[in-house]
Amino acid sequence: MQGYILHITRAKNEDLIITTLTANRLYILYRFYGARHSSINLGYKIDFTIEYQLGFLPKLRNVTHLGFSWLKDTQKHSIWQQFIKLYYRHLQGLEEIDPFYKELLDKIALKITKQNPKRAIIEGYVELLEYEGRLHKEFVCFVCEKKIDNPALGRALLPAHSSCIGEEGFAAPKLSYLYRYKDTLLFEDEEIRRLWHTLLLGL
Ligand SMILES: [Zn+2]
Repeated sequence: MQGYILHITRAKNEDLIITTLTANRLYILYRFYGARHSSINLGYKIDFTIEYQLGFLPKLRNVTHLGFSWLKDTQKHSIWQQFIKLYYRHLQGLEEIDPFYKELLDKIALKITKQNPKRAIIEGYVELLEYEGRLHKEFVCFVCEKKIDNPALGRALLPAHSSCIGEEGFAAPKLSYLYRYKDTLLFEDEEIRRLWHTLLLGL
C-alpha cells in the first residue's frame, strides 16, 4: 500500500518507529535498522507492506520511496516537512482516517512541483478547514463578535479585528477569493508570509 511518513521516533539500536498515513488509516510500524533498507525520511511518500507479529508492533517491510521531483530542492523539502509535522499533530491518536487526508497530501505534493510551496500548502489548508467545517467565510470577530471589514487571522484562520488580536488585517475580498477558489493568486508574497506564520500556529 501507499502512504506518507508523518512521524519518526528512534527506538533501540537505530531501529525506528514510524507513523504512516495511508488512504484509510494511520499505522504505527516498527522498522528494523539495516544497511540494505532504502532511506526513510519525514514526509516521504512510500509504497510498503506490513508484517504482523503477535504481541509487538507490526513491521514496516518492502519499502519503496516514491519520491517527488522537487525533493532535491531543500527549501521546498523543508517547508513540506514543516507542514507534515503539523499534519501529524492534527491527526495524531487517530486510527481510522478519511481518504480526504491522504488525497490532500497527494494534491499538495503535486502542486509543489510547479508552485511556491507555501502557496500550495495554504491553498490545501483552506480545503482542509472547509472539509472539517472550520472555515469561517463570514467575517465576524471571534473576540468581540462584531463584523470585520479587513479581517486579521488567528490560529486556524479564525477571523478577528486587527485591534482585537494585535495582528495586521487582510482585504476581505482577497480572503473570500481564496476561500472560494482555493487559490492564493490575489495575495502578495508578504501576505503569504503572514498567512504561513498563522498556519504554523497549528492546524
Ligand atoms: Zn473584535
